[in-house]
Amino acid sequence: MSFTNLGLSEKVLAAVAATGYTTPTPIQEQAIPHVLARKDVLGIAQTGTGKTAAFVLPMLTILEKGRARARMPRTLILEPTRELAAQVKENFDRYGAGQKLNVALLIGGVSFGDQDAKLTRGVDVLIATPGRLLDHTERGGLLLTGVELLVIDEADRMLDMGFIPDIERVCKLVPFTRQTLFFTATMPPEIRRITETFLHNPQKVEVSKPATTAVTVSQCQVPAGREAHEKRELLRRLLREAKDLKNAIIFCNRKREVAVVHKSLQKHGFSVGALHGDMDQSARTAALEQFRKGELPLLVASDVAARGLDIPEVSHVFNFDVPHHPDDYVHRVGRTGRAGRTGVAISLVTPLDQKSMVAIEKLIGQSIPRAEGDFEMHAGTAEQSERPRESRGRDRERSRSGRGKSRRGHEPRDEAAQPAEARPAVDARPAAEARSAREARPARDARPPREPRQSSEPRGGSHQPANPSHVPSIGRPEPRRQREADTEPGDHSHLPAFLLRPVRSPAGA
Ligand code: AMP
Repeated sequence: MSFTNLGLSEKVLAAVAATGYTTPTPIQEQAIPHVLARKDVLGIAQTGTGKTAAFVLPMLTILEKGRARARMPRTLILEPTRELAAQVKENFDRYGAGQKLNVALLIGGVSFGDQDAKLTRGVDVLIATPGRLLDHTERGGLLLTGVELLVIDEADRMLDMGFIPDIERVCKLVPFTRQTLFFTATMPPEIRRITETFLHNPQKVEVSKPATTAVTVSQCQVPAGREAHEKRELLRRLLREAKDLKNAIIFCNRKREVAVVHKSLQKHGFSVGALHGDMDQSARTAALEQFRKGELPLLVASDVAARGLDIPEVSHVFNFDVPHHPDDYVHRVGRTGRAGRTGVAISLVTPLDQKSMVAIEKLIGQSIPRAEGDFEMHAGTAEQSERPRESRGRDRERSRSGRGKSRRGHEPRDEAAQPAEARPAVDARPAAEARSAREARPARDARPPREPRQSSEPRGGSHQPANPSHVPSIGRPEPRRQREADTEPGDHSHLPAFLLRPVRSPAGA
């Protein structure tokens, strides 16, 4: 099957060819002809299946005829988050480059005035989050009575975020005769009710069984202590020892936890950004952009980032917290192993998470291997290697103490205990940046300025348990003598390039 058989216009086909895509994905192949036939569509598709283009491409074809009127958009796309809305706009910019379409984004955190001015000029495609859209309609600056086509994307996410009443209101403000395209990854009863109420004889298009994780993702669960600081230490170790880690998203359940984990990783020298709903829009966009470009290989995120964000080639996903809803697990893990690529998903599981893990395993229909001893996760192989436990934890802790400062004047870390290919950007920061990161650390991470050097913890980690028996055995340090011979303090020439990028603190994070 090629794009030329789907009924798309010449302009759109040229734009698709320019992106290099030759074959439609299954959701595109099935949905596009129905959209062009002006049918309602119920698309059940996970993120990463190409579903955005499945509605953007036929919409561009439809919009070639007709003109927009002031304050009366011709089409409306609802997205649960600002990032997803911005991403859909990027798709219109990319595929609609040859068309003179007015595409407007109505999202929170951006000035009302600019958005209003754009609406007054007339809009062909309005992409909005529900709250900001309704604010505009209530102020009288926007009429939805001209909407010919409505897209409700990521509907199950809307449900999770409490947007269903807003969606129902919007559905009542658009004409009864509009065409509706409705996308969801799962079909909980509330979503089914909405589809039954607002879709007219929809064509159902389902591309993969809902709530499954890609077969190309190696999943594992790692036992973790209950305390957040124990989990942070375990996370650092996993990050340092992960094989083939190119970039990773680290998911937390709460925004507050995102901020704490982000600061803590920064403090420990990792190049890391943060993404959660309380950050202002420019900080969110900047963090996402830096992650996309690979400037920050790690991103700590709340579930805002779990759905739909188009970040190709994420090699690893870490669940710092096991999600409360099994659906969220599927979406988080869906950030890796996209479009047939391989990936690794590692969950830190405390005794309190057992129930959630059972629910997740039930939903995905498979058990997730537990790392009881040492566990190596290679991207692309489900390879697990059990290695003797020995007294690795203590050895590793010892290796952190009693070493001189690096050339840049920062405190040494335990990088020598890590495999060279997976070490973090320790000490790679300019001194001023490192200082400001230290100054920015939250009170709970504060430590006495003159920490005794014989401490078993690295600088800045005095709240961590000195007793390594709390920490599951993961990874095997090299013999101590070997480490010292191989690694000069401050010499990072052996570190992979991505880990040596300077740490930048995203504004507002
Ligand atoms: P989505 O599910 O819309 O988030 O898309 C996931 C990824 O697939 C994005 O990076 C798209 O650019 C990419 N993509 C969309 N359509 C195609 C296609 N026909 N062939 C290859 N990649 C595609």
